[in-house]
Amino acid sequence: MTVTVEALDELVTALRTVLADDQILTSKTDRYNRARVPAPFPVHRWSERLPDLAVLPTSTEQVAGVVRIANELRVPVVPRDGGTGLTDGAVPLRGGIVVDVKRMNQVKELDLENRTVTVGTGISMLKLNEQLAKHDLFYPDDPASYPCSLVGGRIGTSGWSLIGSRYGHSRDLVLSFDHVLPTGEVMHVGDGIGHKISKSSSGYQLKHLFMGHQGTLGIATEATLKLFPKPEAELSPFWAFDNYDDAYRCVGALARAGVATFAGAVLFDEWKVAYLRRDDEAYIPQPNDVRALVCAVMYGYEDEVRPAGKRLFRIAKDHGARYLGDEISEGDWAARHDRYATPLHGRTKAGQVVPMSWHCEDAAVNYTNLPSVSRAWHEIVADLRRRTDVFDDWGMFTYTSGSTGVDYLTEIDVGIWEQQLDDRAWEMWVKAKRDIAAVALAHNGSISACHGSCREGEVDLVPQELGRGFDVMLDLKRTLDPNNIMNPGKYLLDRAYETGPHA
Ligand SMILES: Cc1cc2nc3c(=O)[nH]c(=O)nc-3n(C[C@H](O)[C@H](O)[C@H](O)COP(=O)(O)OP(=O)(O)OC[C@H]3O[C@@H](n4cnc5c(N)ncnc54)[C@H](O)[C@@H]3O)c2cc1C
Repeated sequence: MTVTVEALDELVTALRTVLADDQILTSKTDRYNRARVPAPFPVHRWSERLPDLAVLPTSTEQVAGVVRIANELRVPVVPRDGGTGLTDGAVPLRGGIVVDVKRMNQVKELDLENRTVTVGTGISMLKLNEQLAKHDLFYPDDPASYPCSLVGGRIGTSGWSLIGSRYGHSRDLVLSFDHVLPTGEVMHVGDGIGHKISKSSSGYQLKHLFMGHQGTLGIATEATLKLFPKPEAELSPFWAFDNYDDAYRCVGALARAGVATFAGAVLFDEWKVAYLRRDDEAYIPQPNDVRALVCAVMYGYEDEVRPAGKRLFRIAKDHGARYLGDEISEGDWAARHDRYATPLHGRTKAGQVVPMSWHCEDAAVNYTNLPSVSRAWHEIVADLRRRTDVFDDWGMFTYTSGSTGVDYLTEIDVGIWEQQLDDRAWEMWVKAKRDIAAVALAHNGSISACHGSCREGEVDLVPQELGRGFDVMLDLKRTLDPNNIMNPGKYLLDRAYETGPHA
């Protein structure tokens, strides 16, 4: 606890001026429930990272009231939506108030003519799409965490969608939002003054500044989102290959084909196939001669998806692909949202099966750099594994970031035997994460492409990736959050408050 008992009393009394009693949670269970994220969290030190209290606001005004009080009393504030972020962004490093926005989950306005919806940022894409389906519409932000990550968290992370090659990613799909600044003032962020405008060149383009900041610049409370017709047809063929090189060439050719309904392609490497075959109960076993897998996804009307599919099948065949059949293809694509819910396990070096948790490191790299990044990353994890049984290499997957195939989000998944995790193993892991990020930068990549690079290890290289841009970040942070109350300790932004030159 960072706040003294007297200060906590003062804080709760002040919060009671804007919130009801049942919106202020102080019990140990409530605080623990809002402290953990899935990974890569140092679980053996979980109890050191608890909030002093959590609040459950129901309106922008209440969020603004909470932040204003926190700013006056200099208490840290950490926004939390689904808590699925993989960059430790929603973990309170210095205690303070966790603002849990889950009660702000209403659809406020559905505009069928302009094809937009305005929602509280506590709603999940799954729940939103259940309501939109009645109107044959959908909101196509589709991370693997689709059912449990929320719109506000997608804004906080500027997340990446598995079907983003067709529809764009969170940053393209969110038109505008109401945002509580670290001082408690409320602003509307988007193009122009309207809520539903996508084109504007008035002034600086601030929308992206207030997306992906991991809660360090305030809290998004109500968002207006772009809608699309609910796709009539979905085609998601999985193809098997007997070597990685053919699969790699195939995925590039699919992305470069310029097929309009192409929503994305995913490549699973040899380690990933081996892991899925060996240790993932949810997966349909692959024959032994399968060394790599490629999945392509198309969305649209029946009469455009069918011919587009034929073209992609032809390309895949030319690259040595073997189609795995409708049942496996449809099943595996459908499973993309819930595979992580199954119990996970890995292996010790002696081959013993043990429970493990999933951790991942990722980056965006150009297509041409994928093979060499992949080799270097597997070597880093192999080195960890040579030194300890705590880690297991669960392979890599890679998916298109955009429809042209210029760059890919690539991720190496690592099993971590959490029961065996201690300070020594954690230090090894943090160093490996830093090394993995360094490989991405050496290939002109962007570190932690999907999950935000503010987590321990790779965060050290963010100033290197951004150069002078990192100093601009520090200037903005200090200006907008003069008392460093918003998610302090993240992204090395504490440097903004040190005296003397930042560099
Ligand atoms: C199994 C699994 C698969 C995943 N797959 C993907 C994927 O395909 N693509 C992808 O992009 N991510 C993926 N992720 C990561 C994660 O789901 C995303 O980062 C997601 O956007 C986080 O949303 P959330 O609601 O859980 O946010 P949280 O974890 O609650 O918060 C994430 C960050 O945003 C900040 N924040 C939260 N709410 C707000 C708000 N209202 N305003 C401002 N800042 C806020 C938090 O402080 C934190 O820094 C995956 C995670 C898991 C567990």
